[in-house]
Amino acid sequence: FYKMYSQSTKIMDKAFINGLWVSAKSNKVFEVQDPATCQVISTVPDMNVDDVEAAVTYADEAFQTWKVTTGKERSILLRKWYDLLVQNQEELAKILTMEAGKPIKESLGEIVYGNAFVEWFAEEAKRMYGEIVPSPVKNRELMVLRQPIGTVGLITPWNFPFAMITRKAGAAIAAGCTCVIKPAEDTPFTALALAELASLAGIPKGVINIVTSSRSNADQIGKYLCESPKVAGISFTGSTAVGKLLYQQCGKHVKRIGLELGGNAPFIIFESADLNKAVDGAIASKFRNCGQTCISANRFLIQDSIFEEFVQKFAERIKSSLIIGDGKNVQFNLGPLINADQVKKVEDIMQDAIKKGVNVVTGGNRATNVGEQFFEPTLLTNITSNMRCYKEEIFGPVAVCIKFKTEAECIDIANDTERGLAGYFYSNDISQIWRVAKNLEVGMVGVNEGLISHAETPFGGIKESGIGREGSKHGLDEYTYLKYVCFGNL
Ligand code: ADP
Repeated sequence: FYKMYSQSTKIMDKAFINGLWVSAKSNKVFEVQDPATCQVISTVPDMNVDDVEAAVTYADEAFQTWKVTTGKERSILLRKWYDLLVQNQEELAKILTMEAGKPIKESLGEIVYGNAFVEWFAEEAKRMYGEIVPSPVKNRELMVLRQPIGTVGLITPWNFPFAMITRKAGAAIAAGCTCVIKPAEDTPFTALALAELASLAGIPKGVINIVTSSRSNADQIGKYLCESPKVAGISFTGSTAVGKLLYQQCGKHVKRIGLELGGNAPFIIFESADLNKAVDGAIASKFRNCGQTCISANRFLIQDSIFEEFVQKFAERIKSSLIIGDGKNVQFNLGPLINADQVKKVEDIMQDAIKKGVNVVTGGNRATNVGEQFFEPTLLTNITSNMRCYKEEIFGPVAVCIKFKTEAECIDIANDTERGLAGYFYSNDISQIWRVAKNLEVGMVGVNEGLISHAETPFGGIKESGIGREGSKHGLDEYTYLKYVCFGNL
């Protein structure tokens, strides 16, 4: 099955700079593995600061002409790109599954979701409105223009290798910016495929550049992007640790930065909830992409009166509906973890919990009969606040169930974290729904719903989960600045 894909699916093995497929100046490459089989898919250029410097120079050159295009011109090109992405969505999904391990149906879901950003921003490009402000004094007209900020550096993660790029690049290009994109080292191929389609769509050379690099060169590339005077802003999705570093580096030059960092989403089930719907939501939110999603439910908070019943239903559904295996085959819906480091992290979190007295309702181990990097879907109870699984973002298929008594206690537990990305709760009490939606310290709330993201709505967090919003009518703000123009002495 794997061979069938690699024979029929075109993989680009060069980086994409100024409209050309190029090697690293050093000629170095690094290997990218299929996480399901641990086989090497191909190599890609291992670029460093010299290559990113060239990419930024070309992107800056391209910006000089791209910034004066009309919104309508940019809209037409983005729409063509969108049409090509839709035409190729099955192929794109196969590439995504091959490099990220995501089950094929989920990969297709990510492509459809990612494409929606290109469509959305093709439309928004025409609506980059400024303002006319009524003047408080005579003989003046006051105006606010919105202008593209310049070349931007986009650094993206492996868990949504496709949609995190379209969400950023779609907005940047619509606004009139040009971009230098550094995809995650685990997943460069979807990025390269979408750049190829952008080029076929007629998006001019230099507007989209993809610089591939191994993990060991990521820091110098990131630093260069943060410090180059030719880069006007950074947008990053990834870990909180790297996000903080980039924020510091941007601080030195007062550079614009958008950050989408880790979450620690509470998933709350109140006693009035429809438990079957809550189980549907829990499965979708927790086990999508094998739990490797920043808005995944990280802590299940369950009211004491329904705790046993919910845990039992949840465990039954985990056993009956999740089938572990290589996601290239449609029969499997729980794929591998992305790499050996992630497997070790999940194992360490499990061991810590076991040492501190956790109760393993189901799962708990690596699924070594399937492959090196697979982990059983796991459900844990008897959680204490000193366990790592209580506090940390797990990023694996491990569901942690915590009991609470009152709404106030539950809100305290939910908000007892530096993170504030997403939160979910199930309730049929309308007053409670309003109260809890307002009181959760997060940027996004799902009420009786476990999957909530759309191109139309603002994605982003509060507290240490990030700065700024992506998607929605606010998505262009990250890539534009307001310029106030005063016409005096009229
Ligand atoms: P994860 O833990 O999900 O891999 P990371 O934050 O480590 O998340 O990675 C997200 C992206 O950030 C990847 O493209 C990675 O290569 C990149 N990255 C890692 N370290 C740095 C760094 N020091 N500067 C810039 N980018 C980095």
